[in-house]
Amino acid sequence: NEVVSKNFIEQIIDKDLEEGVYTQVCTRFPPEPNGYLHIGHAKSILLNYGLAKKYGGRFHLRFDDTNPMKEKSEFVESIIEDVKWLGAVYDGEVLFASNYFDQMYEAAVKLIKKGKAYVCDLSAEEIRQYRGTLTEPGKNSPYRDRSVEENLDLFERMKNGEFEDGSRVLRAKIDMSSPNINMRDPVIYRVAHMTHHNTGDKWCIYPMYDFAHPIEDAIEGVTHSICTLEFEDHRPLYDWVVRELEYPHPPKQIEFAKLYLQNVITGKRYIKKLVEENIVDGWDDPRLVSIAALRRRGFTPESIQMFMDLVGVSKSQSSVDYAMLEYCIREDLKLKCSRVMAVLDPVKLIIDNYPEGQVEYMDVVNNQENEALGTRKVPFCRELYIEREDFMEEPPKKYFRLYPGNEVRLMNGYFVTCTDYKKDENGRVTEIHCTYDPQTRSGSGFTGRKVKGTIHWVAAPYAVRATVRLYENLVDEEKGVYNKEDGSLNLNPDSLTVLDNCYVEPDLANALAGDSFQFVRQGYFCVDVKDSTPLAPVFNRIVSLKSSYKP
Ligand code: ATP
Ligand code: MG
Ligand code: MG
Repeated sequence: NEVVSKNFIEQIIDKDLEEGVYTQVCTRFPPEPNGYLHIGHAKSILLNYGLAKKYGGRFHLRFDDTNPMKEKSEFVESIIEDVKWLGAVYDGEVLFASNYFDQMYEAAVKLIKKGKAYVCDLSAEEIRQYRGTLTEPGKNSPYRDRSVEENLDLFERMKNGEFEDGSRVLRAKIDMSSPNINMRDPVIYRVAHMTHHNTGDKWCIYPMYDFAHPIEDAIEGVTHSICTLEFEDHRPLYDWVVRELEYPHPPKQIEFAKLYLQNVITGKRYIKKLVEENIVDGWDDPRLVSIAALRRRGFTPESIQMFMDLVGVSKSQSSVDYAMLEYCIREDLKLKCSRVMAVLDPVKLIIDNYPEGQVEYMDVVNNQENEALGTRKVPFCRELYIEREDFMEEPPKKYFRLYPGNEVRLMNGYFVTCTDYKKDENGRVTEIHCTYDPQTRSGSGFTGRKVKGTIHWVAAPYAVRATVRLYENLVDEEKGVYNKEDGSLNLNPDSLTVLDNCYVEPDLANALAGDSFQFVRQGYFCVDVKDSTPLAPVFNRIVSLKSSYKP
């Protein structure tokens, strides 16, 4: 049933269109360019873009750059790249709130002329004291009843740079006894002699978020201004601003619950801290959930869209299991990737009855579930590498892999029977010997006997040496993200494992940065875009094959 499957925002939009409140839909994603985007922002981007697309409306990418203190243009580029990568297509040019500073100034003048704003000389501390508390009403500022003329004069002089930072502010004149503290004559403009990344030194007064945001939306013809729940208490102010400024089709603010992932650090502030303290290797360290990091790790835009669709939109706060994101990337890559053999912890397997110097090329299907991916040739010869854990001197019950006397299938190869093994002085196995049965060649249709174990391998002289990075959560699953006593992060010491003696099939030397593969029995891996070279490939594990999540 289509009606039931609509989320609460779509229901609001349907009603607005039905009642003619709006004739078309316009949404926006309004990031502050003060850091890299993370998975939470992806939710907002895909939600806003998805709604515009669904209703045949517009979607704007607008930088909310009204605070010169924190913003840098370096983040603008990365944000644009991330939005594009996610597949969210914005209409028109990239927009900047700072391009509306003139209109915002005019809007403030309009409020002053209506007697709805005044210049206040109280200090920040005094304003706080006068504001009151949740249980106590606020007190009127002694400057509240200044005349319109005086306010216009003072505000213009604020703009002209006659006053110091913090000496005067412009406040909306609303209600100091409102139960909503945001409505107690909020500051809407402040003096800040600072250079802005876009407007340079043109302005020394800057609008506050609660004043600027509704104006930005109104100027652009945004209809549904979607934000997160912490702004719910600001909505009356949003509505006040668009009402007092008499916009003909005022936008409306709608709040939804932020996306939280369990045991994962979202929140620009925290990610920034990890980067600055060198706990991670930059904003795109694959252990992070910044969009750049997810991309580098090997997540696809499709997997993130699937994840957001599964999570849905709601008004109640909850956190989502990271396993759900992993489920989505597995689902997305399942049919897209070739399944190749890679040995992460190699030990040599020598087939004593296989002719020395001989090589044969096995025909291997790239993906048994997707014929379209074709086949490849994989060299097979006398000396192979197999996983160290696929051999045991003294196997426990139900161990079906190699051990003395046991026969296993070499995937895409032959059956081999373990005959012997050698150890070094430390008792570490250095090589394993076996014999093969030529009748059992993969693809030959051999049905003479069955074996229980199948293991993967690579041909030692042809394999490419590679580095593989395995990841675990950055923060400790058991202990939670933050230490309860001192608030420090409960870091997982095993969040990164670097295996630098791995061997992969020779074809993988030609893999391109960002290409993904399934390494059979190991998981999905992606060629690292920063550190991988054809001679020394580096693979990031995106996700293991096993899942604890069931949709
Ligand atoms: P952070 O708290 O991580 O620093 P922010 O809200 O300060 O994020 P903005 O650049 O202001 O970052 O956010 C742009 C948009 O992304 C806002 O509309 C915000 O509500 C939304 N957003 C931020 N975090 C999340 C999240 N976890 N889930 C959903 N939307 C989010
Ligand atoms: Mg913000
Ligand atoms: Mg923030």
